[in-house]
Amino acid sequence: MNTKAAILHQMELERPYSVSNPLKIEDVTLDDPGFNEVVVKIKAAGLCHSDLSVIDGNRPRPLPMALGHEASGVVVELGEGVDKLSVGDHVVFAFLPSCGSCRYCNTGRAALCEPGAEANGKGTLLGGHKRIHNEGNYYHHHLGVSGFAEFAVVSIDSLVKIDQEIPFEIAALFGCAIMTGVGAVVNTAQLKFGESILIVGLGGVGLSAILGAKAAGASNIIAADLNPQKRAIGKKLGAHYTIDSSKKNALQFLKDLSGGGVDVALEFAGAISALEFAFHATKRGGTTVTAALPHPDAKLEISPVTLVGQEKSLKGSYLGSCIPSRDIPAYIELYKTGRLDVEKLISHRIKLEDINDGFERLAQGDALRQIILFD
Ligand SMILES: [Zn+2]
Ligand SMILES: [Zn+2]
Repeated sequence: MNTKAAILHQMELERPYSVSNPLKIEDVTLDDPGFNEVVVKIKAAGLCHSDLSVIDGNRPRPLPMALGHEASGVVVELGEGVDKLSVGDHVVFAFLPSCGSCRYCNTGRAALCEPGAEANGKGTLLGGHKRIHNEGNYYHHHLGVSGFAEFAVVSIDSLVKIDQEIPFEIAALFGCAIMTGVGAVVNTAQLKFGESILIVGLGGVGLSAILGAKAAGASNIIAADLNPQKRAIGKKLGAHYTIDSSKKNALQFLKDLSGGGVDVALEFAGAISALEFAFHATKRGGTTVTAALPHPDAKLEISPVTLVGQEKSLKGSYLGSCIPSRDIPAYIELYKTGRLDVEKLISHRIKLEDINDGFERLAQGDALRQIILFD
């Protein structure tokens, strides 16, 4: 089968991306789906910071690669052995496949699935195969999805079936932004009803965390970002207070607002100064969570005595510590009953051809979620 797909051949091209065009839209060939694989017609795909991190070289991945990891679509063809999905099913992609049988999947920690992480690291589907090529030159898959394309061959363990009534552009967001942001609040940090929370970094994931904190009953939601427009959106989505964490008195201001510090501080900005701010803003006995992906060489310095003397916890969160097949349907239910304002996260609807302009907008900080819509 032939399809158009956005391919990255070289990282670290100069900005503006609307001029350097790091992603090339190519006519490529998809091999037939193998065992436990299906073909999905992509209907919507979101531009996420984790794609940008591959483009700008902060998160190196094997190249060339068909990018895109937040998407939704319709199953159009089944490979051998597929019995839990049918042609016509609407699906959301999870950006880490869950094998369902490794020691992590078996203990409810699908976010750490070992075969899933290995396949993602190598840029293959869960079964170890690459199914996308241009005249025999095979391309890597981005996080088992490669959703910036009209069609994708994927492992069924990268998919979650959803209700047909959910609009595709909304559904796509559950695969990355919502799962990562809401999951970090309720699964990783385990925010309790009535606790205070700080959210640093208001991209799609940070804003999703605001929605999650609101739905989970946080008493006091404080949102921090350097960009005043993002702070204004944070407030619109449910933050009670917003702060510019680069200001000299920001930490003291936060402590005054929260009675000495927050119960839970989440960091999504990907800057060490942001994580330090979140850690220092966490009160005695509280929990700091980072779900950002800074450059692999970045180092954090903290005094271990603070962890001990103040019984603070510092945790990492991947995939929002979610089990996609459990949590995506649950979060969609919250959306359907009006408790997650997901549509407010979408700032632009674009075409596949405009993808480089979209990534330039994201790099400039001028966009929330931009969704590529396919016919
Ligand atoms: Zn993402
Ligand atoms: Zn597993």
